[in-house]
Amino acid sequence: MYYICISNYAKKVGIPNRQIGTKKDTREHTLVFSCKTIFCFSKNNCIINREVIIMPEIAEVETVRNTLKRQILNKKIKSVNVRYNKMIESDINTFEKGLIGDEFIDIKRRGKWLIFELHNHYLLSHLRMEGKFFLKNSAEEIIKHEHVIITFIDNTDLRYHDTRKFGRMNLIKKEDLENTECIKKQGLEPGDKNLTSKYLLTKFKNKKLPIKTVLLDQTIISGLGNIYVNEVLFYAKINPLKEAGKITDKEANLIAEGANTIIKEAIKMGGTTIKSYTSSLGVTGRFQNKLKVHKKEGQPCPICNTPIENVKINGRSTYFCPQCQK
Ligand SMILES: [Zn+2]
Repeated sequence: MYYICISNYAKKVGIPNRQIGTKKDTREHTLVFSCKTIFCFSKNNCIINREVIIMPEIAEVETVRNTLKRQILNKKIKSVNVRYNKMIESDINTFEKGLIGDEFIDIKRRGKWLIFELHNHYLLSHLRMEGKFFLKNSAEEIIKHEHVIITFIDNTDLRYHDTRKFGRMNLIKKEDLENTECIKKQGLEPGDKNLTSKYLLTKFKNKKLPIKTVLLDQTIISGLGNIYVNEVLFYAKINPLKEAGKITDKEANLIAEGANTIIKEAIKMGGTTIKSYTSSLGVTGRFQNKLKVHKKEGQPCPICNTPIENVKINGRSTYFCPQCQK
């Protein structure tokens, strides 16, 4: 995958200036993607496809983890079929050999990374924008976008489906887990007892960026994505544009408390059902019913009735109450 600067290009074809890059894909289309919308162009710049996508967040990944744990543990792996090599970060042969004959004994999670534990290795998987896992009977026909197929001895398959091919997998030796780049740089999880105002204030110190942007940095609180950061800032009554370096001890306390409370509840409710995620394993999240500001533009604030506003901060849709969050 390679990125080129597309701001002028986007202007030329009349796209709002929130795109972050483009990717040449194998079908000779140019995908222009923002955090939220993917435009797919043909060679002559016609938009041939446009999809609004919201990435799976921590609670959604947790739901996938819990669902898979009930279905795939302790079943010996018979074969592995990788149909799109670029999805696998490790050497393909090592990947296949490492999985065959072993079995998944647990599934953990760090941030938005799923960590499938085998006897000898860990399989790391990131769903990115549209990755989904399906459990199917091996006899079922392999469909388009099923890129990695792991077959168990009971003739069931764990199939990884990803229309955008952004998801990544990596098979690593067990002792290498903590030194693997993507895992090493994860911050504290919501619920971790070390996630305190003191911890947050050291991370926010001297930062001039808006608190909204800083909280999306996975090296601070791991797994907190756009939806939940919007909700956490509403909980803490902090204006999302406030400079991170100016957050007070009291506010930092509320951020930690909000992240713990909101993520715990979101996980309990199975996450927030989002377009590209809904069909994954037939699991439907219910947390969207609990959202207070996210996607509520123009609707009354549940506390003060002021209409919720929506602004772009660093390209991300930010919903907040201008009255409560000062
Ligand atoms: Zn309000």
